[in-house]
Amino acid sequence: MENETKNKKSVVVVKDLNVIYNKGKSNEVRSLEEIDLEIFPQEYVIIFGPSGCGKSTLLYSISGLQRPTSGMVMVDGEDISTYKKKKSAWFHRHKIGMIFQSFHLIGSLNILDNVCLPKTFDGGEVEDRRAKALELLGRFTIANQADKFPMELSGGQQQRVSIARSLINDPDIILADEPVGNLDSKSSHTVMEILKELNEIDKKTIILVTHDPSHLRYGDKIVHMVDGKIVKIEQKQKANTSVESYVMKDGKVREDLVKGEYIPLDLRHLMRSFSGLTANQISNLLVPFKAQQLFSHLFFSMTNDQIEKAIKKVEDFLYTRINFEDFFEGLDADIEKGGAGWDRRVAESFSTQVKQLVERASEISFAEKEKTARSLAEYFKSKWNLDLDEKRVSELAGIVLDRLENRIGRDEFQDLINFSKEKNGMSFNKRTAIKISRELELLLLLRYSG
Ligand code: ADP
Ligand code: MG
Repeated sequence: MENETKNKKSVVVVKDLNVIYNKGKSNEVRSLEEIDLEIFPQEYVIIFGPSGCGKSTLLYSISGLQRPTSGMVMVDGEDISTYKKKKSAWFHRHKIGMIFQSFHLIGSLNILDNVCLPKTFDGGEVEDRRAKALELLGRFTIANQADKFPMELSGGQQQRVSIARSLINDPDIILADEPVGNLDSKSSHTVMEILKELNEIDKKTIILVTHDPSHLRYGDKIVHMVDGKIVKIEQKQKANTSVESYVMKDGKVREDLVKGEYIPLDLRHLMRSFSGLTANQISNLLVPFKAQQLFSHLFFSMTNDQIEKAIKKVEDFLYTRINFEDFFEGLDADIEKGGAGWDRRVAESFSTQVKQLVERASEISFAEKEKTARSLAEYFKSKWNLDLDEKRVSELAGIVLDRLENRIGRDEFQDLINFSKEKNGMSFNKRTAIKISRELELLLLLRYSG
């Protein structure tokens, strides 16, 4: 790595950069002091440090959006402060792509037009840029959202749109300021993997700002900042925790990793993506994910605030920080009093369902898989009033056992119980098949404890 970079010409050079706000006034802030930094083509650089230490200021200085008080930023050997208006515009549209924590999508434009935006100023055929935008959206598996508006998309989807937008002019350098700061853990993972792929497969130079230490494993070079200064620069070997690529060799996108059905049930998967952590740590990391899955399983509509507060309560319950009574009371209590502000009856039915699922999951025994499969089959039968005789319950138990022993995946399980009897299936209708397979996966997830 060292030797490799030595022979390369640097793409970004920051020399003795100082940024001082309100210079000479009583409210003067020395945001950056004597910053020296060299970045090479195709490096993945992480600017890391606590809030307020100057990370964003450094990133915006490299992008030319922030003027230095003194010192210099050179990109491809050119001092970017010398750029005239036209060159500066070209630089921002073609040389660098930016991704922000709050996405910065334009609410009145649909997704496709948002992605096209940086290209619309350049002239050229409308059809060409639309085709290019659609291709990028397709790559991140959101082409079907092209006609929607940003508000209609989840945070994770919006960030994928903004990544597509940053790529529309095929820039060499991607600058990302806390790009997953507003996302849940699953969407964060997806976005971090996309950035990794842009670096490894598309050979983009990535400069990422983060305060989250769990992102450090993605970087080749870690720039540690404190109080406006660089205190350490770590040059790492590329992590060999090669996580599955989103695009496979045949050019197809790994739908399973992107679509949100990437439930880390499969331990091998899990260990790989959290390599270096103990099983116990992984299990703790999974709690927010478990809480979230419980919600999508049991939920229909509520305000964000009510949901976010309640998710915290579910996490507390799953971590066993609170008992069932406190869990239920916490959902019911007013938001001002630290509760989730739910209707009492909804709180009661929800907390009871969570409790039942958690208890049901705790009865799963991997030591006694056959017995477990049998009791799960009985449970599904009674929960959904399935009209099954003894023989059919045994058949269902057999399929559940295949899933428990990992001989079949989630999708195969769903297919098998949906297939007709002639095809050795249970011939449950599609909806029932989906419900049962979801519940089974959720139970297995809840049961997983490292
Ligand atoms: P980080 O991204 O690491 O959280 P920033 O680069 O945003 O840090 O900010 C570094 C310091 O500069 C902070 O103390 C912040 O308050 C200050 N700062 C940032 N922008 C301005 C501004 N426009 N005017 C005055 N102070 C600012
Ligand atoms: Mg910042």
